[in-house]
Amino acid sequence: MDRLKPEFKADVRRIVGDGNLKDAEAISTIDHGVAPENLGAGAVVFPGSTEEVAAVVKCCLANGVPLVTHGGRTGLVGGAMSRPGELVLSTARLNRILYVSPIERVAVVEAGVTLQALQVAAAEHRLETGIDLPSRGSATVGGMASTNAGGIAAFRFGVMRHRVLGLEAVLADGSIYCDLTRVVKNAAGYDLKHLFVGAEGTLGIITRIAVKLEPRPFATATVLFGLPSVDAALDTVRRGLDAEYGHLRAAEAIWNAYFRLTSGHHRWSAPEYSADHPVNLLVSLGGAEEGALQSELGRIYEDVIEDHPDASAVIASSGAQEADLWRLREDTDLIYRKHPGAPSYDVSVPLSEVGSYLDRCLADLRDLDPAFDPYVFGHLADGNLHIVLNMAGSDIPVEKTNAIEKAVYRDVVAMGGSFSAEHGIGSKRVGSLSAMSNPVKVALMHRVKDALDASALLNPGKVLRKGAP
Ligand SMILES: Cc1cc2nc3c(=O)[nH]c(=O)nc-3n(C[C@H](O)[C@H](O)[C@H](O)COP(=O)(O)OP(=O)(O)OC[C@H]3O[C@@H](n4cnc5c(N)ncnc54)[C@H](O)[C@@H]3O)c2cc1C
Repeated sequence: MDRLKPEFKADVRRIVGDGNLKDAEAISTIDHGVAPENLGAGAVVFPGSTEEVAAVVKCCLANGVPLVTHGGRTGLVGGAMSRPGELVLSTARLNRILYVSPIERVAVVEAGVTLQALQVAAAEHRLETGIDLPSRGSATVGGMASTNAGGIAAFRFGVMRHRVLGLEAVLADGSIYCDLTRVVKNAAGYDLKHLFVGAEGTLGIITRIAVKLEPRPFATATVLFGLPSVDAALDTVRRGLDAEYGHLRAAEAIWNAYFRLTSGHHRWSAPEYSADHPVNLLVSLGGAEEGALQSELGRIYEDVIEDHPDASAVIASSGAQEADLWRLREDTDLIYRKHPGAPSYDVSVPLSEVGSYLDRCLADLRDLDPAFDPYVFGHLADGNLHIVLNMAGSDIPVEKTNAIEKAVYRDVVAMGGSFSAEHGIGSKRVGSLSAMSNPVKVALMHRVKDALDASALLNPGKVLRKGAP
């Protein structure tokens, strides 16, 4: 039975205005983002204010219509997938930057503001967000808070949880939780905003956020190192952290299979830089003056080559060259175009374990199938690795997918890492969460969900199974 009755839709239209509920053919004008299933509900509402969000939630509660909140639809674990009978709530119209203060180094934004829009607004005050993702053009600040996104700068400035100073959220009963604190220090009781960070829309709908900003350096410089091993890459990261001039902004590792894919596709090459290094490492420094930063990178290279004579390096000498180097890391879309639906994993392991973990994991995967040569890349400075199989999802039988997951996740939690570093649980990792987490944690999560959303109105079946069909 379709729960989205004409009377219900009429009520929703009265709240948000006629054109702000799209269904039937109008859905085809909306980009489904990472997964077509995101628009499975077939109806999307676009509220324009917190009050409209609250009124829509109350209407859904009264009619038993579950809600799935959407930001930029860039989430990679199916957290935004929706089904017929549900209503998608898009934050696209909640896109106002309400406040940016260079004195406070704080911005207050509505949840649907994209990361890139906030980056541009912050840059006008020579500030930056302290968090950066390759999906910056579409990912929203609300979505990033909801998935507790990490990205490129997390080793330095923390993950999204550390960037959120305060937030406002509409709860499952339509009430509005408001804590738009703009200060770092706030020890006034339970810090409840953190319930909504990383909850993937299952505990409330985030509508506004106060975000901590950081001073933006005047200049940056980037080098690509070709290195013989993970240990050599970690050693290079340490040298970047110890830079005598400037500070380390990024240390992104690209293992050989992925490097060959992106450099081949973009026809990138440089004299004396071989595509055959086991590990490639992008290192960026920030500081006052570009020439001095490039000299510092050259000095780091001299140190690296003393210990690893077979290393090589390319220092970008212009903004365009810097962008070309970053494309070698960020064009992950190439993988999915070649292998649609390829199983992908997002683990983090303590830095001292990265080398042995990968050796063991890749050997186990090759034992499963000698054709497996996964693409590996990641945020090396915080031990976050993305592992994507070089095979289309439809070509891998379910039993093998389970074995692959076992091989990738083996020992990750025991060694002090995480089976989901920055992408969340969504619908894809629900089984892994219950299988791999402390049972008391899972039981507590259920109690929190029951306390805030007993009828599983918000994003049913995501993170926990509650409300799954
Ligand atoms: C090319 C690419 C690169 C990426 N790189 C990174 C990376 O480096 N680091 C990283 O952490 N992630 C990365 N991601 C994943 C993704 O960009 C992040 O998870 C991002 O935070 C999702 O934001 P979104 O606005 O697109 O959220 P959506 O995909 O729309 O939603 C994600 C989840 O959050 C919920 N949600 C969205 N908005 C709200 C809200 N206002 N209130 C409550 N719940 C909400 C949804 O219901 C869903 O469960 C990448 C994705 C792509 C496609």
